[in-house]
Order: sequence, then structure tokens, then C-alpha cells
Amino acid sequence: MGKKDHLTIDKEVVQVIGRELLDWYYRNRRDLPWRKNQDPYKIWVSEIMLQQTRVDTVIPYFQRFIEQFPTLDDLAQAPEEQVIKAWEGLGYYSRVKNLHAAVKEVSAKYGSQVPDDLETISKLKGVGPYTAGAILSIAFNKKAPAVDGNVMRVFSRLFALTDDIALASTRKKMEHIALQVIPNNVPGDFNQALMELGALICTPSSPQCLFCPLRSVCNAYAEGIEEELPRKKKAKPPKQMKMVMLWLSQGQRALIEKRPDEGLLAGMWGLPTIQVAEEESMQEAHLFCDKNGLNVTNIKVAGKFEHIFSHQHWKVTVIQGEVSEWASPLPSSWSWMTADQVNEKPFSNVYRKALQLFI
Ligand code: SF4
Repeated sequence: MGKKDHLTIDKEVVQVIGRELLDWYYRNRRDLPWRKNQDPYKIWVSEIMLQQTRVDTVIPYFQRFIEQFPTLDDLAQAPEEQVIKAWEGLGYYSRVKNLHAAVKEVSAKYGSQVPDDLETISKLKGVGPYTAGAILSIAFNKKAPAVDGNVMRVFSRLFALTDDIALASTRKKMEHIALQVIPNNVPGDFNQALMELGALICTPSSPQCLFCPLRSVCNAYAEGIEEELPRKKKAKPPKQMKMVMLWLSQGQRALIEKRPDEGLLAGMWGLPTIQVAEEESMQEAHLFCDKNGLNVTNIKVAGKFEHIFSHQHWKVTVIQGEVSEWASPLPSSWSWMTADQVNEKPFSNVYRKALQLFI
């Protein structure tokens, strides 16, 4: 290998990496549903689902999603709520909203053909450098880097790089390395092989170096520092927030709220929710009901749970009450719904946890 600062990888090392990694991949790759063909639409869906979500979790979602929307046009034409419902439980809902918007654009502007050049595909909503590289290499066999967390970890160890992988400059450096090591003939297989190695062998903790096809050229292994890499500055801990969710019922129906179009869980459905200063704040629950013209009786705590988003940690108290009367009109984002109606709408996990106390 050449000097790390210059990011020049020795030609012999490049050859060993290409040969050993692909050989290992062809013998060990998992049989994943999105690897069945090179349909760019399906690869795109799988790559978006796989961001921030584990492979095992993604598989059934992917299968159901593709069954429901078998082609790009099927997805483009579907109503947004149906698309979000199909994503329910996967979290990070901006991913599916962006995917839906981008697919509509491809349908309208590019004759339903996923663009196969970096510039055009990178302009689509939600398609960052990683996703663009993954689609171009896997679906179109183009030599493009697809550097995700797995690849950064493998490269950090392979070349003993101590750069902070949370920095954009480090990603650039990694992309530069990737372009040197990706072979011209099978770029898609090679990118997938790197990710697979990161997922199965060069894992975040306790990498299985003894089974690794790249051990003979791995600098971290040679120096015994594989467990110390990659370096990553600690992210800020999630913000602690105390929340009250309200289950306000009348007979068989309850008040359900459509979340705003922007911000956390945008466009999903939920229960009326307030941020409170004190946990179990009955007083704030009463004030909230008064403010919205609701006369509520039998108010009591129905349950408590915690939920962690990427940047927020919610301590939730679920308070239930019976609505005896209300001043019309109710807030426009609220609807009375039965249990069946609730089950047709998309709710995120945090609200499903509250709903299961009642339905
Ligand atoms: S030898 Fe170990 S640290 Fe190096 S790439 Fe393989 S698994 Fe990762």
C-alpha cells in the first residue's frame, strides 16, 4: 500500500482484494430477495429500506412492499397514505416520502426509467451518494463507489485509517479508495461483497479476522488494532423529553390526530400528544383538553413506556379519558375513529405502543 495521506493503494493489494473478496462473496453471499435480479427499481427500494435498518427486519417489508407495488409506476400512482402504511414499523418515514416523490419524478420526467448517470440520479429526492453508487453499480454495472457504514468500517481497518468516519471529508477519502479497488468488470458484485464482508465478518465488535479473506492484506489485523477502528466522534445523546399521549374516547370511537406535514413522523397518524414538564402531568392533560373545548371525565393513567428516536428519547405517559361533550369545531387535524379505522391508517411504532393499550 502507498502512503495513507496520498490514498494510493498498491496495485498488488488491489488485486488481492478483488480476487479474494469476490471469491469469498460468491461462496458466502446470503440469498436476499433484492439480489434475485438487477431491476433498478427493486434495488432502489431495498437500498432505501436498508438505510438505518437491519437486513433481517427489511426482508419481509421488502417482499410485502414489492408485492403491493411491483413496478415503479405502481408506486408512483399509489396514494401517499397507502405507501406510508406499507412502510409502517420501519421508521425514519422521511425515507419513504422521499422515495415516493422521487419515483413520481422518474415516472413523469424519465419515462419510468431509473436514470443511469450519476448527475441525474443524484438529483432525485433521498438519493445520496451511497444510494446513487449502489443503484448505478448493482443495477447498471457502472463503476461507482457505494460507501456505507459497513464499507467505512472495512476500509478503516484494512488500511488502518484513523480518520473520524462521521466527517464528510472521510467519506470522500473512502470514495477515492473505493474507486481504486473496485474492479471494472463486476463493480456491483464488488460493492455488495464489501458490504457483505462488513455485515458478516468485519463486524462492528469482535471482527472474525481468522475467517476473513482479506486478512493477509489487512493493516489493522497486522497491527492488532482492529477493535480500535473505525474512529467515530460520539454523537450527541438523544434529547430527553417527557410526553403525554391522550386516548380520548367516546363509546367505540377515539380522537386520532394527523401529524403535521413537517417534522418528526410527518404525515403519519397519532394520538393527541403534548410535551410536559413533569411526568404523569394530569394538570397539563386537563389544561390541554380545556384549551381544545373538550369536556373529559374519568381521566386516569393508562400506561407508561419509553421510546428512542435517533435524536429524541421520549418518556411517555398515556392518559385516557371519556369525552362527554366538546365545543365545535375540533382541531382540523383530529378525527373520530373506530378501531377498524385506526388499523387502516399508518402509525409509527411509538403510537402503536400506546394504541395496544386500547385496541
Ligand atoms: S482482517 Fe479483520 S479487521 Fe481486517 S478486514 Fe478482515 S475482519 Fe476486518
